[in-house]
Amino acid sequence: MRTVELFKKKTVLSYEVFPPKPTSPVNTIYETLDELKELSPDFISVTYGAGGGKNNSETFKIASAVKGYGIESVIHLPCTRLTKEDVSQKLNELKSIGIENILALRGDIPSEGCVQGDFKYASDLVAYIKKQGDFNVIAACYPEGHIESKTKVEDIQNLKIKVDAGADQLITQLFFDNEYFYSFAERCQLAGINVPIEAGIMPVINKKQIERMASLCGATVPKKFIAMMERYENNPIAMRDAGIAYAVDQIVDLIAQDVDGIHLYTMNNPYIARKIHESIQTLV
Ligand code: FAD
Repeated sequence: MRTVELFKKKTVLSYEVFPPKPTSPVNTIYETLDELKELSPDFISVTYGAGGGKNNSETFKIASAVKGYGIESVIHLPCTRLTKEDVSQKLNELKSIGIENILALRGDIPSEGCVQGDFKYASDLVAYIKKQGDFNVIAACYPEGHIESKTKVEDIQNLKIKVDAGADQLITQLFFDNEYFYSFAERCQLAGINVPIEAGIMPVINKKQIERMASLCGATVPKKFIAMMERYENNPIAMRDAGIAYAVDQIVDLIAQDVDGIHLYTMNNPYIARKIHESIQTLV
């Protein structure tokens, strides 16, 4: 099923998982999926390392397994190192395992300092995929602007190019202050970007994780979030519970304001996904 169809019926609730690190047993992801399945997500997306790491082949296996669980599956596909032939080969593979939803990404620029493959921007990949078959293409977007963009206006203009190239729906980068999302949604409307936009929410598990993520993607960390992290940084259980409460608060507000969907960065932690699901299941 094309995941864009889901937005016609309800507020979409999806989860993101990643292949376990090579140092962790690969089975842990299947235990995670067993638990996520119980929460009946609208779809699960599986990340893919732009660096071309070993666990990329796991992405395809996990995305295929998600389908086997009876859940719609989305595969992430960053293209910084891919040629057109590589992408065509991957699309054939996806067709053969029945996956029709792709999150088309540029990926972060490799340490060599420039794109190594045939695609400069995600919009080039989106257009290429659309020509190759009847895939539902999702793209990334950035409520606070992408870290490389000089201005938010430039970023929205580039997003419009990506949507015009064929992106059917969007998922945002994580953010901790909903006001960024609301003003981004307004900029999208002004620019004529009318596809469904899911808000990406990442519950804090520990202070280091959030500091790393926020610095990588340039997300603003609000004062009340910092206060929470400082108060509970030495108490992992309290930090986890406060992080869940913060994420639930964000989600309740977003749903009340008619968001198209919530994409939860689960960090492969089914306990957190379950707690959040329990708090919001009557709202979606
Ligand atoms: P693009 O849309 O190409 O944008 C990159 C930059 O180029 C932006 O600053 C944009 O404004 C600018 N730009 C775009 N088009 C043009 C143009 N035509 N002319 C001039 N400038 C332009 N990374 C991974 O490696 N693996 C993953 O699995 C993964 N999953 C992600 C999931 C989500 C929901 C999100 C939000 C991000 C994910 N990322 C992942 C990170 C992503 O790859 C990075 O944020 C990357 O730096 C940008 O990717 P993009 O697809 O948004 O790129």
